[in-house]
Parts: sequence; C-alpha cells; structure tokens
Amino acid sequence: MPGEDSMIESDSLPALLFFETPEQIYARVFRALCLRVRISDLLAGAPAPVTEALAFILLGKLYRKPVPRMYAHRYRLYLNRRDIRHKAELVRQIRGRKFVSGPAGQHHNLEEIFERLNAQHFDGLMGRPQLGWSRRPARGMLGHFDPSHNAIVISRIFDQPAVPPLALEYVVFHEMLHLRFPVNHSGVRRRVHTREFREAEKQFPRFQEAKEMLKRL
Ligand SMILES: [Zn+2]
Repeated sequence: MPGEDSMIESDSLPALLFFETPEQIYARVFRALCLRVRISDLLAGAPAPVTEALAFILLGKLYRKPVPRMYAHRYRLYLNRRDIRHKAELVRQIRGRKFVSGPAGQHHNLEEIFERLNAQHFDGLMGRPQLGWSRRPARGMLGHFDPSHNAIVISRIFDQPAVPPLALEYVVFHEMLHLRFPVNHSGVRRRVHTREFREAEKQFPRFQEAKEMLKRL
C-alpha cells in the first residue's frame, strides 16, 4: 500500500507477516487501528492486568459481547484509585494558595459556619479541620473533604453576597458528615455516601430547599 499507513508499521510488509495465523494478523491489525489511541489516552502507565481488562471491555463493546464481571470489576477498582489520586491532587493544588487566606472569605467565614453547625448538629464535639476556599469559583466541585489533609475545601462560588447562606451552610454540613461517616470500603464499591450518611443528611433543616438552591447556583 502506498503511503498513508504510518499508523500500522511502515510501508513495507511486517517481516513476520508470513508466519502469522489469520487470527494473529487480525489481532495485530485490530490493535494497530483501534486500540492504540484509546489506550494511550486513557491508561498510559496502567498495569498490565488493567490493560487486559480494558481490552475485554473495548472488544466486548465492539462485538456486543457481555464483559466478564471479573474484568469490569478490575477496571472499576483501578478507576476508583485514579479518581482518588485525582481528587487528592486537586486539593493539594488548591491548598497551596488558598489556605494562606484561611477560612475567612470576602463575605462568609467558614469557621463561624462550621462552629454554628458543630453546636447545632454535633454537640460541639467535632474537631475543627482545616477550612478553606477554593482558588477558583468551581461549579463542578462545590465542596470537598480531604481526609489525608483533614481539610474541608468549599468552592469560592459561595463567597458572594447574592448566595443564600442556607446553600453554603448545607454544603459545609455535607462535608462535615464526611468527617463523621468515613468511606466504606467493604465490597466492590467505595461507598462515600453510605445509608447512615444519607439519613444524617436529611436531618439538616430545610434540606430539600437547600438542595434546590444548589441547582440554581
Ligand atoms: Zn459528599
């Protein structure tokens, strides 16, 4: 084939071609055409068992075959781990600059809110973690509790006079519940919001109203 196929090996025939079975040829061409890009994008540096699991998932999709549970499970575990690392990194980035200014924002003070909620809902017994505002007014992550740094980070989007205090209080309360109810690692899934967590969350006064407010931010 003339030109254009740098994606495969070169413009000459691969040396081993005549020693391959048809299955091997298909497998090799398939790898070259379809998987190269996806794998490098998604999983650069992933351990071999994870790459294997992804191959089952991608090929299963292509041929409309169910993915064996074992591989789906393995891949999910890996993504969870990546997810954790990603979040930890975000918080680290945010912390570097943000905690210089501490819990006091322009319009709201996280320490005051924390202590008010602490008295109302935790008998004042919850130890105060580091409290800070995100550097940017993020909409994607309204709040975050980072156990490794014992820090609650609240999106700066809430530090505006137009934001109802109830919405901000609810987000701080939610993150405080993450201190109260640690992540459940039993079983396949990491349960961040356990049943106990959800029950406790409903104790927040005007819970539904607060949730609605967050949708309209
Ligand atoms: Zn949460």
